[in-house]
Amino acid sequence: MSESPITEAFLVVPCIVVQCSGGCCDPFGPGGPPHFETVDEAIAVLRDEAWVFVGKLAWCPSCAAKADCGVTGHQWDEWADDAVEGLPCKQRTCGHCAEQEYEPPLRELQVLIQMREIGWGGDDETR
Ligand SMILES: [Zn+2]
Ligand SMILES: [Zn+2]
Repeated sequence: MSESPITEAFLVVPCIVVQCSGGCCDPFGPGGPPHFETVDEAIAVLRDEAWVFVGKLAWCPSCAAKADCGVTGHQWDEWADDAVEGLPCKQRTCGHCAEQEYEPPLRELQVLIQMREIGWGGDDETR
């Protein structure tokens, strides 16, 4: 009774999935990576979606943009007023790679939030 489960109904087909070389874990979001029958098809389709292919490596649009910014610098938008957990701050976004920067830096905001949670920092909001 060791019959192969592969039948006319359950086929084995070759399938190519592209893995981003930028080290991001899930560049495809919900739905998972698309499957392709050939490498050429994968490159043709993903190039249309702004992937970058160099030699044997592939970068998703966001890793390609980050690599770009690493070389040429971020293209920051104007600072905008924002708030993190109710703390007023300023925030700007790189128009190229979507990196976000906060003023004061997010690290400091997180410390302020933690201090507030354990009751440090006085009883009034400082403005
Ligand atoms: Zn990536
Ligand atoms: Zn950037």
